[in-house]
Amino acid sequence: MKCIRCGNATYKSTTTEAIELGSGVLVIRNIPCYKCEICDEIHFTGDVVKQLEQIISAAKQRMEQLSVVDFSSIATAA
Ligand SMILES: [Zn+2]
Repeated sequence: MKCIRCGNATYKSTTTEAIELGSGVLVIRNIPCYKCEICDEIHFTGDVVKQLEQIISAAKQRMEQLSVVDFSSIATAA
């Protein structure tokens, strides 16, 4: 995968995202991603984006002030 920002090579990594939900904050750890070697731009594959959307909509329904989830413990193996 090439970086969408600068076109350089990316490498496989994991990242943590904090998402503001209005009612609270959702922190998702260990999200698989590709990171750019040059500019650190983070890229997610389509499968990961879909699973993130499911995690976010589930978190919205729980309405907790702070929830932390580990992507690797809930995501189905792609
Ligand atoms: Zn880049």
